[in-house]
Amino acid sequence: MTMLYPEVKVAPPGPNARAIIEVDQRYSSPSYIKEYPLVVERGEGPWVYDVDGNRFLDFMAGIAVASTGHSHPTVVKAIHDAADRFLHICGTDFYYDAFSRLCERLASVLPEMGPKRVFLTNSGTEAVEGALKLARHHTRSQYVVAFKGGFHGRTMGAISLNSSKVAQRAFFGPLLPGVIHIPYANPYRCANGCAPHACGDACNPALMLEREWFVNHVDPREVAAIFVEPILGEGGYVIPPASFLQHLRRICDTHGILLVFDEVQSGIGRTGKMFAAEHFGVMPDILLSAKGIASGMPLGAIIARESVMTWPRGSHGSTYGGNPVCCAAALATLDVVEGLLDSVRDTGEHLLRGLRDLQTRFPVIGDVRGVGLMVGAEFVDPATREPASAYVSELEQLAFLKGLLLLSCGKSTIRFAPPLVVGKHEVDVMLRILETCLQELALPVASTLPRPAAAGVKI
Ligand code: PLP
Repeated sequence: MTMLYPEVKVAPPGPNARAIIEVDQRYSSPSYIKEYPLVVERGEGPWVYDVDGNRFLDFMAGIAVASTGHSHPTVVKAIHDAADRFLHICGTDFYYDAFSRLCERLASVLPEMGPKRVFLTNSGTEAVEGALKLARHHTRSQYVVAFKGGFHGRTMGAISLNSSKVAQRAFFGPLLPGVIHIPYANPYRCANGCAPHACGDACNPALMLEREWFVNHVDPREVAAIFVEPILGEGGYVIPPASFLQHLRRICDTHGILLVFDEVQSGIGRTGKMFAAEHFGVMPDILLSAKGIASGMPLGAIIARESVMTWPRGSHGSTYGGNPVCCAAALATLDVVEGLLDSVRDTGEHLLRGLRDLQTRFPVIGDVRGVGLMVGAEFVDPATREPASAYVSELEQLAFLKGLLLLSCGKSTIRFAPPLVVGKHEVDVMLRILETCLQELALPVASTLPRPAAAGVKI
């Protein structure tokens, strides 16, 4: 097998890329972020080719979506075959085989949850939105608990749950009332100011919910659900202690509240298990999936205990949700991902070891954490441990120029979320490029300054 490496023949953005960016910048919505001027022509496995013939190593998978790698032949064939048959008939009103089979398949994940039912959506945010409706409908209660640093999407209900970047909420109000935000359990940055990784259970924000919020602010009988990412995604790839999720489960059981795991980013094999819940031994009442579920085709899912998905005929639906081509892509994706789980765990450990080795030599890396191929490195000002946001932005840009696609999250974390098909060779190539970037970049000064505005290229 030939070993591939990134190849940057024309400094990006090259002339073909510039022409496309120019049109985009003239006509597309200014709300798009455009992290760096990558203009994609095609992809294959973990490799992405731009319109000027450059080859990039992808360690962000289109925001943790290209689970099976770019254009995996099994997934592409399933899409072709489905498209040849029919493109649409509407799963809300009629029946087709791929829709029923996908619901059956997703109802069989996490057997400890017991019998389940599935609602198919087009995206993660729609899964969140539907789960909000389901939780209120089932419990007849109105409040929901969400977490600081959490991200759940861009629709009105989802942005009401978000608490990671103010720009996602600013001037869109009034948002959904009755959302209670409490701190997420972050072992590196404890809300009570403990030293990194030194907290005891007393700092557990779940206990704060019980001892403070449910005593002083809201009667738990009026709380419909707790929405939590079992591993914080956009908020910085934070792995909470298992006791955080265990306490949330106990609190939900005590008060008849629904526990909703938003596994839009952490699910579908990303952590080396099909869902991150399996690492913590805690089962939710409602499990949300999207992103990697169909390798990039738009699909999401609300997977709920049968005893919870009690809304009646006509109470929720979708014209496109569970489109036949997307369902076929999802069924093929699940087959491929099931075969990758061992390798994800193994490659993930190799990646963690490599990053921890870099951490010993580059004090700008404050924390390295991860499970499987959901790995984050938090960059800090070595003197103050404040987030080095501007540094991370420069690092992302420099890596891109060297043929490595990275994406930040949180205030100053680089997430390593490659397609699940990467192996040790790709990890080693990535680590070498990263090391070169760290050698070239000046240490952060005034790193508490906000991140520079979107790095969209000026042409
Ligand atoms: N939930 C989580 C945890 C996410 O990370 C995201 C997207 O990043 C969403 C929901 C929203 O998904 P989508 O962009 O498909 O609407």
